[in-house]
Amino acid sequence: MDKVIIIRVGELFLKGNNKRYFEDTLSRNIRKALDGIKCYLRSARNRFIVENYAERDHGAIIMRLQKIFGIHSVSPAIKIHADLDEISRVAAEISPKAGKFRVSVNKADKTIQKRSMDIAADVGQFMLKNSKDLTVDLFKYDFEVNIDIREDKTAFIFYERLEGAGGLPSGCGGKAMLLLSGGIDSPVAGHKIARRGVQLFAVHYHSFPYTSEKAKQKVIDLAKTVSKYSGDIELSVVPFTEIQYAIREKCPIEFMITLMRRFMMRIAERLAISKGCGALVTGESLGQVASQTMESIIVTNDVVKLPVFRPLIGSDKYEIIEDARNIETYDLSILPYEDCCTVFLPKNPVIKPRLSIVEDMEKLLDIELLVEGAIARTETIICSSY
Ligand code: ATP
Ligand code: MG
Repeated sequence: MDKVIIIRVGELFLKGNNKRYFEDTLSRNIRKALDGIKCYLRSARNRFIVENYAERDHGAIIMRLQKIFGIHSVSPAIKIHADLDEISRVAAEISPKAGKFRVSVNKADKTIQKRSMDIAADVGQFMLKNSKDLTVDLFKYDFEVNIDIREDKTAFIFYERLEGAGGLPSGCGGKAMLLLSGGIDSPVAGHKIARRGVQLFAVHYHSFPYTSEKAKQKVIDLAKTVSKYSGDIELSVVPFTEIQYAIREKCPIEFMITLMRRFMMRIAERLAISKGCGALVTGESLGQVASQTMESIIVTNDVVKLPVFRPLIGSDKYEIIEDARNIETYDLSILPYEDCCTVFLPKNPVIKPRLSIVEDMEKLLDIELLVEGAIARTETIICSSY
């Protein structure tokens, strides 16, 4: 009788030709997430089993597994030999001794003649005989004894299915570059895209000395938190002050944000291409602030050719905050450190910039020099969760 953890994978992607690829990717991601914990991971037909771990690591393993994309649910279970008498005996031994219960049996081993329903009835009978304070109730039960009899003559007994993160295994859907600010939105946007199997890279612009070391550390911590789900994130920290000085010197201050954001997109695209990313990701949400009107988005989008994914474009702030709480980035995001966008903030930013006007303004700037200069001084940090 061994304690194990059953990992069930999303059903959908297990169909078709990519099954093997998805499974291998997920297996690699699980191993990586369980790094540092002594255990054995076994692949077993549409599921994985974690075995041979110390009792004290049980909680940590479950917590880490629940964050991995591609996992549908997990169940702590007892593994025994699939002998029907043995199943009844163990079920009676480990189940609560009082309350209403039901037994559900799933039988993958078709060599066993007895029907699942009859096995469930036998186990239920045995349990009732063993404890006077138990009653069967198929609908309003306090606990359910799940028995899963596998093809390899093992059986699992478990009581709960803990929800997994769903989505697709990280790394099986290409790579994307997330523009990661210290705000609430962009970590949520990154999480959503990573959930579709995309491997994340991130870029952050900081305006030293106007933004502090603490502001930078906050972004590193945010990337680490997102990496619990997505796997390691390579974060590029780009110095942005020179660019802001140049804009302030040469261009009308009302256009500061528009011009800054065009630089952010240009640099992000260059970094993205150098790392093999096929798309950019931002936390923009339509109409949320001046830089996120449709006109602003059109103007900032115009400088890049890569597709820009904006998974929050139609979300309300309340919904985004709820997501941020769920993925545990919210408390970090609201730490009161300045962002580079808040440093040279104009009083009255243009809300509906015209592309031709913005392009004329940029003629006063040596864009190539500024972009290359910033990229040359970029610092790269691997953000890893465990
Ligand atoms: P967030 O909460 O993600 O900061 P926001 O509501 O503050 O978003 P903006 O400041 O307009 O909105 O930023 C829009 C998007 O631009 C962000 O979601 C992020 O993707 C990107 N961005 C903004 N500032 C930075 C920065 N300093 N470094 C990297 N990306 C940034
Ligand atoms: Mg912001």
